[in-house]
Amino acid sequence: MRTNEIPSAIDAQWARVRARLKTEFGEAQFKSWLKPLTLVSIADGAVKVAVPTRFMQDWVRSHYTDRLCALWRGENNTVRSVEIVVQTTAAPAREPALQSELGRANAVRIDGYRPTKSFAVPAARGPGEETEDFGAPLDPRFTFENFVIGKPNEFATAAARRVAEEAKVPFNPLFLYGGVGLGKTHLMHAIAWHIRKRHPQRKVVYLSAEKFMYQFIRALRFKDMMSFKEQFRSVDVLMIDDVQFISGKDSTQEEFFHTFNALIDQNRQIILSADKSPSDLEGIEDRVRSRLGWGLVADIHPTTYELRLGILQNKAERLGAAIPPKVLEFLAHKITSNVRELEGSLNRIAAHAQLVGRPITLESAQEVLHDLLRSSDRRVTIEEIQKRVAEHFSIRLADMHSPRRARAVARPRQVAMYLAKQLTTRSLPEIGRKFGGRDHTTVMHAVRKIEELRSSDHSFAEDVELLRRMLEA
Ligand code: ADP
Ligand code: MG
Repeated sequence: MRTNEIPSAIDAQWARVRARLKTEFGEAQFKSWLKPLTLVSIADGAVKVAVPTRFMQDWVRSHYTDRLCALWRGENNTVRSVEIVVQTTAAPAREPALQSELGRANAVRIDGYRPTKSFAVPAARGPGEETEDFGAPLDPRFTFENFVIGKPNEFATAAARRVAEEAKVPFNPLFLYGGVGLGKTHLMHAIAWHIRKRHPQRKVVYLSAEKFMYQFIRALRFKDMMSFKEQFRSVDVLMIDDVQFISGKDSTQEEFFHTFNALIDQNRQIILSADKSPSDLEGIEDRVRSRLGWGLVADIHPTTYELRLGILQNKAERLGAAIPPKVLEFLAHKITSNVRELEGSLNRIAAHAQLVGRPITLESAQEVLHDLLRSSDRRVTIEEIQKRVAEHFSIRLADMHSPRRARAVARPRQVAMYLAKQLTTRSLPEIGRKFGGRDHTTVMHAVRKIEELRSSDHSFAEDVELLRRMLEA
């Protein structure tokens, strides 16, 4: 039964919890696991949320309950626990990680993959769950031809090309790493397309680390480990994208490592990507970490102005849109975060021009992108945050980095860490480093502590809010 007193307040709280989950865990995890959650009831301090399948229940329960509970508590101090229940909806629920893969109906399959008998679907599988490729589809736009090379990515591109072109395995594994939206997935797909064209008999499998985990968990559940192992061990080229997702998941990591070793021993090519170098990956066992770095490690650096302009010119040409060079230069100057946003802004401008039927100008571009441009202008740095917070609480700036743990300096420091997490795109370890080389768990602790205080102490909450507004202004 749903609390009926103030349903809109509860809805608003739930919406905020969801928004937080999305920022904390990222789009991909949110879409796969958290978006499908529905709020069932809040009663006697227990929040009940429903998922469509048992499998999701296990997963969400073991991975997200703590965080769900903490976030709920931050919104509503009557909450003491969160319970995950299964509630099938009228429409046959399909497990969401699957759904997103299957949703890309017109995407192209990787050639050379033949479903093996042993990977037949166990009868226990529910309705709506279909046999699927164990690899994910390739994006037809992600080819070498469409990849613009510049200083920041030339080494990674050269390495990718070698792997794609060489008949023998040149280095194993190839480990590509770099920030979000800089072309890791694009390069992996490009390798797959290239091999597919040249050597259609070679079995190339591309999938995300999340999907790898998902299949592993499912194989465990359906007691189907044999075919799980077999399917991976029979590929010629295995690519796993975003392996940082495997960190901390001990049993998946173990299986990943076995698969990895088995393939390397058989001289099959492995290509991995992550947002960090092997040595910086957290929650990965040392022996796994060191083995990941055995082959070639190639990083993709943040874009330069020249590369951004090159990508925009290339993309504008392919769009067939008449975009004045001035506008492209303007975008290359302004949208510096990553290539995905750069492409997004170009698409928006082109779509707008087509819709209103007027030529694109610098003014119209600025107008169409005003929200994007504002947010990139407003980006604050951790240093600014530290300075402002120190001023506000009248402590020395040096205390932001000092090991002193007295409450009078520790609390402001925690506030600054909290704001750094909220207002910048820095990761927890990066934030920790900027605060006198503290561990990422210290930052995480600070974030939770401040969240707690914000919800229990009204004037403290106002202080933090004020600081946030000043920094954002
Ligand atoms: P990542 O996997 O590193 O997060 P993606 O490979 O998904 O990033 O790239 C994000 C978007 O930017 C994709 O649409 C991709 O085609 C495009 N992109 C990235 N780098 C380049 C490049 N050098 N040339 C052309 N497009 C690029
Ligand atoms: Mg990617």
